[in-house]
Amino acid sequence: MGFAAIVVAAGSGSRAGGDKQWRAVGGRPMVRWSVESLLTAGADPVVIVVAPDGHSRADDALAGLAGWRAVTGGATRAESVRAGLAALECADDTPVLIHDAARPFLSSAVIARLRQALNDADGALPALPVADSLRRGEEGLVVGGVERDGLWRAQTPQAFRLKTIRDAYAAWTDAEAPTDEAAVVERAGGRVRLVEGDDRLMKLTYPEDFAMAEALLPKTIRIGQGFDVHRWGPGTSVWLCGVEIPHDQTLIGHSDADAGLHALTDAILGAIADGDIGDHFPPSDPQWKGASSDRFLVYAAERVAARGGRIVNVDVTLICEQPKVKPHRQAMRERLAELLKLPLDAVSVKATTTEALGFTGRGEGLAAQAAVSVELP
Ligand code: MG
Repeated sequence: MGFAAIVVAAGSGSRAGGDKQWRAVGGRPMVRWSVESLLTAGADPVVIVVAPDGHSRADDALAGLAGWRAVTGGATRAESVRAGLAALECADDTPVLIHDAARPFLSSAVIARLRQALNDADGALPALPVADSLRRGEEGLVVGGVERDGLWRAQTPQAFRLKTIRDAYAAWTDAEAPTDEAAVVERAGGRVRLVEGDDRLMKLTYPEDFAMAEALLPKTIRIGQGFDVHRWGPGTSVWLCGVEIPHDQTLIGHSDADAGLHALTDAILGAIADGDIGDHFPPSDPQWKGASSDRFLVYAAERVAARGGRIVNVDVTLICEQPKVKPHRQAMRERLAELLKLPLDAVSVKATTTEALGFTGRGEGLAAQAAVSVELP
């Protein structure tokens, strides 16, 4: 039999410093992870419960997914769950999984265990045994222990048949809100089964939880390389890797002709297979005439960030006989590190000549090549 799901994303999430359910984890809005897992497992429908101003954010966060709809929740989690239950038009015995958007890493295995458990219980929740010892504290001092045998950490989703959870909520008349749906069903006399939870199903509340979640996600390392050439012409200085160097010639180009930055920008775009510098900043566009190439580099780095990725390191080689690069290498590294927000030891600038051979050796032009590594979710 099929199943329905309710994802509660109506909280303000102020503890995480903002509306955390819309915040990106691994390059995707947090709520999208759960909704994708539920849809993939066959949930139909998935009802997202949002705050009154959350509908357009849900549309953005879940763009391209089919099979979900949003309803407006209430001031408390319990009111939001009630709103989600009211929106379901399913048969009474339909299994319903009720989930917190703040737990993004929902596996198909947990979903399967919950659905299986409903065969002989009124409800089911994923839980993990308490591994740490427990102490009761007052004003920073231990005032006693708590026996941890038989204690479990409850997670979500929690699973029930639709009529069971609707009836249980209807019977809940306390002024105080329930801690979770299992508490509501237990109060109504239901048997709620513990099924094996998942450490990755942790609740993301505080900023450090998000950092932990990012660290848990599998990453892919991507490599990019770039190459650029500009020819020498009359001038008094040249821009290389974001640093202006006095010189008796300059490099000719539509922008500031900083071949080092152009090669590096192409390398970054290459690592994320996002075209090249000319695609994003066409030389035919007059707004880039004389432009500082800093902005091209920062733009490429932002494209990586928008994918939830980060640049790991960059390595630029400038190929020319003149000017001498070595006296300016440190300034170039510092400028690139600043533009890319990287530590200095992740930024390399090197230089070589071509032994007076070829166009660089004859002083007709300067070439630059760059390599980068990028970590993507
Ligand atoms: Mg160029």
